[in-house]
Amino acid sequence: AAKRVGGAGFALFEDGMVVDAALQLTLQSDLRGALDRGQFELYYQPKIDARKNVVTGVEALVRWNHPTRGVVGPQEFIPTAERSGLIVRLGRWVLDEACRQIADWQSQGRDLNVAVNLSVIQLADASLLDDVRESLARHNVPASRLLCEVTESLLLENTQATARTLVGLRALGVHLSVDDFGTGYSNLTQLKDLPARQLKIDRTFIQELETRSEARAVVASVIQLAHALHLTVVAEGVETAGQRDLLKAMGCDELQGYFYARPMQAAMMQSWSIDAPLALSRTLIAPPLAT
Ligand code: C2E
Ligand code: MG
Ligand code: MG
Ligand code: MG
Repeated sequence: AAKRVGGAGFALFEDGMVVDAALQLTLQSDLRGALDRGQFELYYQPKIDARKNVVTGVEALVRWNHPTRGVVGPQEFIPTAERSGLIVRLGRWVLDEACRQIADWQSQGRDLNVAVNLSVIQLADASLLDDVRESLARHNVPASRLLCEVTESLLLENTQATARTLVGLRALGVHLSVDDFGTGYSNLTQLKDLPARQLKIDRTFIQELETRSEARAVVASVIQLAHALHLTVVAEGVETAGQRDLLKAMGCDELQGYFYARPMQAAMMQSWSIDAPLALSRTLIAPPLAT
C-alpha cells in the first residue's frame, strides 16, 4: 500500500521502517533537484542466451550520482519517488534515456535490446503510452527494441487501467516481461492472460538452487510452465558456475547476474566481453557497490 501515491500517512512506516517524515520530505526535494540537475544515470546489465552464450539484451537500472554520497542505488530512492509521485517524471526520463542509448548503440552498429523497469504508478499513469511513443519516435527507435519489466506483485494489483496500459504497450510493439516471478502469488490464469513474452525468476530461488532441492523443483516447474505459455525464461541473480549449469540443464533460456556482469555504465559495455565475464566484471567494470 505504501506504493500508492496519496496513500495514508501510515504507509511511511511500512516494512517496520521508522522513517522520519521530515527526512522523507528532504529526500523528495533532493530527488526533484537531482532530476533538474541531471544526476541520474542508467547502468546496464546484460542478459545472456544460455545456449548460444551471446548477449540478448541489457536491463537498464537507474543510479543517482549524488554529489556527496556517491552512487546511490534505486532501492534507496524509488520507494520515495513512488510515494511522492516523482516516479512519473523519473520514469519518463528513464524511458527516454534508454531510447537515446538504444539509438546511440545502433549508430555504433550494435543492435541491443534494452529493458526498463516500470513502476505500478507509471502503469496507472494515463500519459505512459504517449511518453513511450514519443521517446521511441524522438530517437527513431523501433518499439521491438524496448522491453518493459513489471514485477509480478504489481500485476496482482492488475486493475483495468493497468491491464489496458499493458495491452497498449504491446500494441505499440513494446515487449513485456514479468519481473521477480515467484515473489507474488499470481495464479496461472493471470499469467496466461498477460501479453508478456518473458518471465524472470526471482533471485531468491536462484540463490538456493545448489543447496535446496525444493528450489530446484520450483525453478524446473516454473520453466516448464513458462514454456507451455510460450514465454522465455530469464534467471536473475546468477552468481556461480554451478547455478549456471543447473539452469542450462533445466532449459532456462537466458541468464543474468554477477557471474556474467554487474550493472555497468553504457560506455563500459564496449570493453565488456562475455568470454571473460568474471575477471572483467569483478575488476574493470564493477561500479561502486551501492549500499
Ligand atoms: P530488478 O529489476 O529485479 O533488478 C535486479 C536487481 O538485482 C538490480 O539491483 C541488480 O543490480 C541486482 N542484481 C543483478 N544481478 C545480481 C546478482 O547476481 N546478485 C545480486 N545480489 N544482485 C544482483 P538494483 O540495480 O539495485 O535495482 C533494484 C530494483 O530497483 C530493481 O530490481 C527494480 O525493481 C528497481 N529499479 C531499478 N531501476 C529502476 C527504474 O529505472 N525504474 C523503476 N521503477 N524501478 C527500478
Ligand atoms: Mg528488472
Ligand atoms: Mg528482477
Ligand atoms: Mg528484483
